[in-house]
Amino acid sequence: SFNALLINRSEDKKVSASLETIDESQLPEDGDVIVDIDYSTLNYKDGLAITGAAPVVRKYPMVPGIDFAGTVSESSNPNWQTGDKVILNGWGVGEGHWGGLAQKAKVKGEWLIAKPERLNSYQAMAIGTAGYTAMLCVMALQKHDVKPEDGEILVTGANGGVGSFAIAILSAYGYDVVASTGRPEEMDYLTELGAKSSINRSELSEPGKPLDKERWAGVVDAVGSHTLANACAQTKYGGTVAACGLAQGFDLPATVMPFILRGVTLAGVDSVNAPLAKRQEAWDKIAEILSPEVYEKVVKKIALSEAIDVAGQLLEGKVRGRVVVDVNA
Ligand code: NAP
Repeated sequence: SFNALLINRSEDKKVSASLETIDESQLPEDGDVIVDIDYSTLNYKDGLAITGAAPVVRKYPMVPGIDFAGTVSESSNPNWQTGDKVILNGWGVGEGHWGGLAQKAKVKGEWLIAKPERLNSYQAMAIGTAGYTAMLCVMALQKHDVKPEDGEILVTGANGGVGSFAIAILSAYGYDVVASTGRPEEMDYLTELGAKSSINRSELSEPGKPLDKERWAGVVDAVGSHTLANACAQTKYGGTVAACGLAQGFDLPATVMPFILRGVTLAGVDSVNAPLAKRQEAWDKIAEILSPEVYEKVVKKIALSEAIDVAGQLLEGKVRGRVVVDVNA
């Protein structure tokens, strides 16, 4: 048997999470690899799942946790052998298939990627879905030819997991980063990660003009809603906005003006179903560009038993950076 967080829904549709001991025979049938998990993490989506704040979980009971790192303990998949070090993120794990906030997971071999050798399990999860998504956003800017000499890059949701890593990655590539945050008191942290300056997120979060003063060569947006609309309206001619999140809202109250008058590109970024080659590229690049000291600045480690409390704090915007969960603690 093993320890896991389990989310249940009662008949009156109340969602509750608890720490349970589960027998291995209860692991999902539709998987061909069993992984002994070292670390999982708490992402915004896990916060939504654990608290029931949004309908992220598609069936119950569910083990949440959209990412994990660990070691293969059993495999009937030809690509994976006992002892292989693996990472998983996305594919609906922790939403429709039992996830990483447990000591064991049974998953499909095609969802796994080999852990980059230069990272240990803890470092891989310090990066986790948020760091890998931040890398996908930066890759989207690079694909659209946004270069450091083109000007400042705006990162919204700066103190969050995606935002923190986006700042660190962009700065490591030589971009000038402006952090948009509702927590200006955390500026020392953001500067340490590589932000050149900051703006208060209230400058972006209210309804704005269809076209505003051109300011950003590129944007990494984890926030959506008016913030994303204003970010597009302030993007310079030919610039690119990578949109990956909805911390303010999933609406996009924008006009076409930045796109048809300034040739701005809105690049959507999805981490969940990104193809394997792109995943591997993102993980390898992030492992290469960031030194492990960066992870230490961003990460806080908690035990599995603390995950329910911290999930609530995450949604309240009280958590800085990333939360790694030691599922064996
Ligand atoms: P997180 O750690 O909770 O960070 C979110 C940050 O957004 C907060 O730290 C806060 O930063 C800011 N924020 C929170 N509420 C806000 C509001 N009402 N208005 C404006 N800003 C607000 O979450 P995360 O794990 O980094 O994820 C960030 C977003 O990206 C989430 O929406 C998540 O669902 C999404 N995401 C998408 C993908 C994908 O595949 N597309 C992958 C990963 C994450 P400040 O305190 O600095 O203002």
